Amino acid sequence: MDTMQAVVFRGINDIRIEEVARPRPKAGEAVIRITATTICGTDVHIVKGEYPVRPGLILGHEPVGVLEELGDGLDGAYTPGQRVIAGAITPCGQCFYCLNGVHSQCRGALGGWRFGNTINGAWAEYLLVPDARANLAVVPDVLTDEEVLMLPDIASTGISGAESGNVRLGDSVAIFAQGPIGLCATLGARLRGAGLIIAVEPIAARREMARRFGAAITIDPNAEDAVETIKRLTDGRGADVAIEALGRQQTFEAALRSVRPGGTMSSLGVYSGKLVAPYDALHAGLGDQRIVTTLCPGGKERMRRLLAMVENGRVDLTPLVTHHFSLEQLPEAFDLFSRQADGVMKVAIHPAGRGLPKAPLHEPASVRC
Ligand SMILES: [Zn+2]
Ligand SMILES: [Zn+2]
Repeated sequence: MDTMQAVVFRGINDIRIEEVARPRPKAGEAVIRITATTICGTDVHIVKGEYPVRPGLILGHEPVGVLEELGDGLDGAYTPGQRVIAGAITPCGQCFYCLNGVHSQCRGALGGWRFGNTINGAWAEYLLVPDARANLAVVPDVLTDEEVLMLPDIASTGISGAESGNVRLGDSVAIFAQGPIGLCATLGARLRGAGLIIAVEPIAARREMARRFGAAITIDPNAEDAVETIKRLTDGRGADVAIEALGRQQTFEAALRSVRPGGTMSSLGVYSGKLVAPYDALHAGLGDQRIVTTLCPGGKERMRRLLAMVENGRVDLTPLVTHHFSLEQLPEAFDLFSRQADGVMKVAIHPAGRGLPKAPLHEPASVRC
């Protein structure tokens, strides 16, 4: 078969199941048969037209699969049939940015993000992986697709919020928004040894999930002033680290206001338009605060490290996967996900299981860390 089924972006609010050419690998590239993928909030931005990509592109940047075909030059590195993941970010490993350690910005701003952005993505039966040696991570046999599905993007991005914020043992950390990324940021704060973890989220079910992922205290920002409460809980100082995981002016500003002088605001959100930083939140620009931004750490070494966390029982991300769909059902899954209906957190898309019925909701397992 030279064709495959894929979900193609045709224009704003227009994604379609199409029969398209199956990719073939050139030197250094590999093709994987996708066994699981998912939908990201970023995909919602793309389909709504808030982040432009070219019509005709296959979307999706979270691949789990089986090595199908190897291009030249990969002998000895991989074997067809191996189960693999690749990060949402696929750095080349050789350009100025990669060699300076900012792999996500490979070849220029956001350049490491290629799947479903500048090249065809994972919402398909097969996916071409560029620079395979730098990007394919082998999945240990003991792990299921579902256990590793959050690693390419959500877990890598969310946990990096705590890493970029340099959360230290005993720190107070406030995380704004508890969607899948924010929950993984909460988990990251716990893994980094934070003392007090405060999660700010208006949806009750997500606050409950935040407690499972490590938050000692949750705040409903519609019921109380989050910044005031965070200050009260930190002897009036503010949090050592605040993590923004939504991408709005309101949460950006609240996160900034909740950081103590000399603290760090770690930003994960995707913003549009202008961001305003009020002078008092920055102490007139003299508060010794740091504001750091992070895309999503990718590449096979990052994936290997995340796989080690799952394999050794340090994290369990399966509670985030609340719904299952086949590839043909992806538009339906997209609709559900973008409306945040039916308590959806993340969906699993299974291209191998055409016509797979929607499974019942999972009973969220406990988080081990
Ligand atoms: Zn994403
Ligand atoms: Zn590079």
